[in-house]
Amino acid sequence: MSQREPHHGTTVSSAQADTAAQVAQWLAQARHVCVVTGAGMSAESGIPTFRGTDDSLWSRFDPQQLATAEAWRADSELVWGWYRWRMAGVQRAQPNAGHCALAALAARHGSVALVTQNVDDLHERASSTVAAHVHGNLFALRCFDCGHPHDAPLAPCAPDSTPLRLAPPVCGHCGGQVRPGVVWFGEALPADAWHAAVQAASDCELMLVVGTSGLVHPAAGLPALARRHGARVVEINPAPTALAPSVDWAWRATAATALPALLACLEGSVPDP
Ligand code: NAD
Ligand code: ZN
Repeated sequence: MSQREPHHGTTVSSAQADTAAQVAQWLAQARHVCVVTGAGMSAESGIPTFRGTDDSLWSRFDPQQLATAEAWRADSELVWGWYRWRMAGVQRAQPNAGHCALAALAARHGSVALVTQNVDDLHERASSTVAAHVHGNLFALRCFDCGHPHDAPLAPCAPDSTPLRLAPPVCGHCGGQVRPGVVWFGEALPADAWHAAVQAASDCELMLVVGTSGLVHPAAGLPALARRHGARVVEINPAPTALAPSVDWAWRATAATALPALLACLEGSVPDP
């Protein structure tokens, strides 16, 4: 099946409504659904994405300086300061209408596996069960040196508009430095989470891919994997992405508009124009 855009010659809102109705039909028919989310899922909660906008994180900082084990070894205060600033931003944020609609949609459908690349906790705070956090979780702190989990509360962080250098917490087990629980460039994905993601992608009949640029591997291979197993793949993203060859239908809309519209269709009501 080729990638299709909503029809021309209709108003945007009626094209969006047509798309919502079509995707809702596929969703209702699918026995198993897999939803893969990326940073765009949380953009409307005010959490910057890595790529795609002028205020995205990679346009303001160099990832090689901040999201690698080498960067940590070279300057852990710089890296910890950046992650502590990101944690504070997530703690101030709230789940958006897309997160909430996804939780309601999964409850209604009954067999939705949610795989996220996000390291925030907004899906959980919207009452979703996350099958796999394939890139870890900002708040699952552990020691860089011995790997021991770190549960002690963090010192409060001022709501600064830019990150400040900050000494990482000290591990209570070995006295080493505590790092965020995310997967850095060059690191392996958590085996259990990746296994669950592959299982969900292989088993689903419909995959919704929401707010990911499709550039970070191996997660970016999940839509192609689903398709090889016969699933239909629908992308929800306001901009074109590298996933185009693996996508059956590209729904050009944001997470917080498309997912509530989809839920409204499933519930049989008419979404707001
Ligand atoms: P990315 O930053 O590479 O791409 C973001 C994508 O979201 C783009 O394709 C953009 O067009 C799309 N987008 C922007 N606004 C959107 C909206 N309102 N609705 C739907 N889509 C929207 O993100 P990625 O592909 O997830 O990158 C991978 C890495 O980014 C992951 O490792 C993830 O851990 C990390 N990340 C996570 C967070 C978070 O946890 N909230 C934030 C930034 C980055
Ligand atoms: Zn330790």
